[in-house]
Amino acid sequence: MPELPEVETIRRDLLSRAVGRTFSHIRVLPGAERIVQWPSPAEFCRGLPGRRIEDVSRRGKYLLLQLSDGRCLIIHLRMTGAILHRDKGAPEDSYLRICLSLDDSSELRYTDLRKMGSMWLVEEPESIVGKLGPDALEGLTWQTLRSLTDGRSAPIKAVLMDQQALAGLGNIYSEEALFRVGIDPRRPAKSLAGDDLKRLGKAIREVLLEAMGHRGSSFRDYLDAEGREGQHQWHVKVYRRTGEPCYNCGTPIERIKLSGRSTHFCPRCQR
Ligand SMILES: [Zn+2]
Repeated sequence: MPELPEVETIRRDLLSRAVGRTFSHIRVLPGAERIVQWPSPAEFCRGLPGRRIEDVSRRGKYLLLQLSDGRCLIIHLRMTGAILHRDKGAPEDSYLRICLSLDDSSELRYTDLRKMGSMWLVEEPESIVGKLGPDALEGLTWQTLRSLTDGRSAPIKAVLMDQQALAGLGNIYSEEALFRVGIDPRRPAKSLAGDDLKRLGKAIREVLLEAMGHRGSSFRDYLDAEGREGQHQWHVKVYRRTGEPCYNCGTPIERIKLSGRSTHFCPRCQR
């Protein structure tokens, strides 16, 4: 599932490829109507043509395309969504769900194997992203982490993945950050001391920046806007390394269920 580094990679691709372009024609393929959350698919297709893309920003895992009429096209990729920037004549992509044609004979193709992604065309983006916590890259300080963890007995990993507490982290990068600072993902959030939180905040930033340097992680479906895989999957320390030796101590990496999600960690290095 795309997390902050993958969405940020796509955002940067779109900045150079799509900003300044104007939508010319929109096609929602049969069976993909539910991806369009607001307004109706028919209004969505009528509302975009003629609107120029002024900017592309990001909040957590949401992409926000600011349009020339003041509205905002918001996209969430969920599990298997991708946005591919292609020439109009390029071979059709698998699992194409929504095709957004641009005025330079290119297309933004939204592909999604599981059709769980979402798009909204709204005047007020806060109605969709207003409940998100601070961004894990842009808005993270250790004081923020302190206020998120104070009094919370939930496991620290669950708090890091709670988008209303902190926006942008999923399974991969919460596990990697916790490994980097030697914190057991099961520890109650409120048990972390100030020093732990300072180190954790620094580690979150480091793992996100490193992953962005590798243009994200492609464990399954993730592709950037050019249709290429990221490379960070070759650099993870614990995520999906069940049974493989810890790079620090050689102990096999363990996999457990935590708050309903698979969780990988080193039982020796992480306390
Ligand atoms: Zn270890």
